[in-house]
Amino acid sequence: KSSPAGAPERLPFSKVTDEDLAYFRKILPGRTITDPDLVESSNVDWLKTVKGSSEVLLRPQTTEEVSQILRYCYNRNLAVNPQGGNTGLVGGSVPVYDEIILSTSLMNNILTFDNISGILTCQAGCVLENLSLYLEERDYIMPLDLGAKGSCQIGGNVATNAGGLRLLRYGSLHGTVLGLEVVLADGRVLDCLATLRKDNTGYDLKQLFIGSEGTLGVITAVSILCPRKPKSTNSYLFLLLGCETFEELLKTFQLCRGMLGEILSAFEFLDSECMRLLNTHLKLPNPISDCPFYIVIETSGSDPDHDSQKLDNFLEEAIASTFVTDGTVATEESKIKALWSMRERVTEALTHDGFTYKYDISLPVERIYQLVTDMRQHLGDRAKSVVGYGHVGDGNLHLNITSPAKDPALLAAIEPFVYEWTASCQGSISAEHGLGLKKRNYIYYSKPSQAVALMGNIKAMLDPKGILNPYKTLPDNLK
Ligand code: FAD
Repeated sequence: KSSPAGAPERLPFSKVTDEDLAYFRKILPGRTITDPDLVESSNVDWLKTVKGSSEVLLRPQTTEEVSQILRYCYNRNLAVNPQGGNTGLVGGSVPVYDEIILSTSLMNNILTFDNISGILTCQAGCVLENLSLYLEERDYIMPLDLGAKGSCQIGGNVATNAGGLRLLRYGSLHGTVLGLEVVLADGRVLDCLATLRKDNTGYDLKQLFIGSEGTLGVITAVSILCPRKPKSTNSYLFLLLGCETFEELLKTFQLCRGMLGEILSAFEFLDSECMRLLNTHLKLPNPISDCPFYIVIETSGSDPDHDSQKLDNFLEEAIASTFVTDGTVATEESKIKALWSMRERVTEALTHDGFTYKYDISLPVERIYQLVTDMRQHLGDRAKSVVGYGHVGDGNLHLNITSPAKDPALLAAIEPFVYEWTASCQGSISAEHGLGLKKRNYIYYSKPSQAVALMGNIKAMLDPKGILNPYKTLPDNLK
């Protein structure tokens, strides 16, 4: 017997009783939500493909409250689903059965900001976009940016080790997160909220929780190193270019890295199918002539004249080399935003195209589009759309396949084909979205069994009763 999303049978956790609710109401007055209409949206994921049946949503405001909740749940053997902005794409953010939802939404205070070092310390529930706005007023920016910024929270970003649009320039959260405060499954508070750039005193425990998807502890506060904001908005320069082939796109990437080097902050791509979906479903017009591939390039530096000179030189060279066939440049904030949305809103356009099968794959960069081509050939007319877009600079492809409705036969044609293809190139079956509920059993395509077994040991040590986000991340054979 399994749930609709393919989860194993419910594990023998306790069920929430009236006494449990009375306890939660005592420690979280007015913030213990049981009205089914209010709990509903927290039971369903962003893609609306996974739906739990939790009857309780808890909204703590402080670390101490999270600690009290977990201590109680641990003693009572109640399962808990940590939840941030609920924008995760692998079914990790919502309960599978009746797990208690522990939302960090009310933990949204900025704790400190050091204007000299650029180190920000905040509670886990701060929405990424709010942090960006706060920092921009102080001439800093967040080291990460993603399409879900208006809803996702920094705790969720850390828990999923989100990559996003700036990873090429500022690196991953494993480098920029300096400290974490985490509440462990039994309620103990682990204070690793350092604000030091260098600290080699023993094991770097915070790294364990970055990308742990709520299975090892609840992140309650984060300290993060933020870069300076490029001096003026004009120093963000932006290009949308068109290429005839993926080989030419890669040559443009090489050229771009060589010529724009230190000011390059993003190199993204989308294919003509993505552009078609943007036009059809979101009425976003293509600002350049139709091409098989589009490149989105962002630069940011501290000297607008120097930056635009570099960009001009690059453009001249790219056009002379005939790698690109058309393009447009934006320097004004509004035009930059409009062009960025061509890339950022592909995920949204896909949701209007039908039921979407999503794959987030890391591959050697020269192989990334071959998977899209092979998948198209493999599926023929069984799929409605097969599209590829993603972060070229990070070798990260988002492969998406749509069908008019959920289609088990189509799914059987896609999987395990997509995973076997990826494994044959020593790629990763989840570059940045994590494993959650949907991908947990495919972990072996990217990790050796010894590594997965060690992950199981770590889980058992930190959460011996397995109450934190059960059925997620680790494969069923470890549970
Ligand atoms: P949630 O969705 O609420 O949770 C995600 C996981 O983290 C769950 O397993 C949950 O249990 C756990 N979790 C949440 N908060 C905590 C906490 N405080 N402590 C412990 N565990 C916690 N991802 C990328 O990497 N790059 C992208 O470019 C990108 N773009 C996206 C664009 C769109 C439009 C959307 C909808 C999603 C995108 N994502 C992207 C997916 C990405 O994983 C999430 O957007 C984001 O990082 C999740 O944050 P959240 O607060 O919504 O977490």
